Amino acid sequence: AAKVGGRGTYRFFQPAMTSLAVERLNFEMQLRGAVANGELELFYQPKISLDSGVACGVEALVRWHHPTLGMIPPVEFIPVAEATGIIDALGDWVLEEACRQLRAWRLAGLGTIKIAVNVSARQLQQSDLPEYIASLAQKYEISACDLEVELTESVLMANPEEISGVLSRLRGIGVLVAIDDFGTGYSSLAYLRRLPIDVLKIDRSFVMNADRDESDGQVVKLILGLGSALQLAIVAEGVETEAQAAFLKSCGCTTAQGYLYARPQPAAQLETWLRKHAGPAAASS
Ligand code: C2E
Ligand code: MG
Ligand code: MG
Ligand code: MG
Repeated sequence: AAKVGGRGTYRFFQPAMTSLAVERLNFEMQLRGAVANGELELFYQPKISLDSGVACGVEALVRWHHPTLGMIPPVEFIPVAEATGIIDALGDWVLEEACRQLRAWRLAGLGTIKIAVNVSARQLQQSDLPEYIASLAQKYEISACDLEVELTESVLMANPEEISGVLSRLRGIGVLVAIDDFGTGYSSLAYLRRLPIDVLKIDRSFVMNADRDESDGQVVKLILGLGSALQLAIVAEGVETEAQAAFLKSCGCTTAQGYLYARPQPAAQLETWLRKHAGPAAASS
């Protein structure tokens, strides 16, 4: 277009590009301030034991309450946070907030609900993550055994040797390790067998049609088989219908997460939900 339109087009494009760059910089500055200004909140979505219907844990999912734009979902700011290094402060905040909430739920009589936190490549590569989590567990008087980290295959496989060391140290303090969105990346079976991993979360894209599409159903079964071969727990994500849940159960899947059971929600709301759905141990202790 620049060639066809000549200089006129060029002049037309210049301010547009500049304003985009300004907008991006603005967004970045606002995101940088979001942690300090208390604009972030953790929502929580339960993980359900399919036999009992009881919640066995929750996943923390960050939300940004932007002062003018309203609530921004993580897909729109986590990549920016990762690209700019803001993820360091943001990730630290998420971990601390999850630990604080775990302690608050414990004091509120909710017993031993586990919390899973999503972590980015950069957080794992900075490698003081195990020490940081250990210090948080001490500060909030909780057990690191009640914490789980979720990372994607791409994070794992980009640098398996280095990440492996960090994961071993996380496991050493009791933190569980889950591979998120499993099946969408390029995991090497050799590494999956060797790496310190506890859980595979089957990506929603397979779960979505598993009960209706033969090959998606086979992929789900394959991952469940892989889980039992490697002694990994399997969680199905994005379960939205009873038919999907029934299919998963029939294949021997034990744990699921999705809108069918509960949407991600603020802590106070989830606390009410948990009181209705937590197991007897969690409800009474
Ligand atoms: P994820 O960890 O795979 O989380 C699952 C996403 O699927 C969540 O989106 C959740 O709200 C959504 N979901 C859950 N059940 C269903 C369902 O039944 N149907 C559908 N359609 N969606 C469902 P959300 O909260 O927007 O988060 C998106 C992604 O952002 C997460 O994917 C995770 O990769 C990332 N993320 C969220 N919080 C954090 C965080 O604190 N730190 C980092 N590094 N990443 C985060
Ligand atoms: Mg996750
Ligand atoms: Mg996922
Ligand atoms: Mg995902």
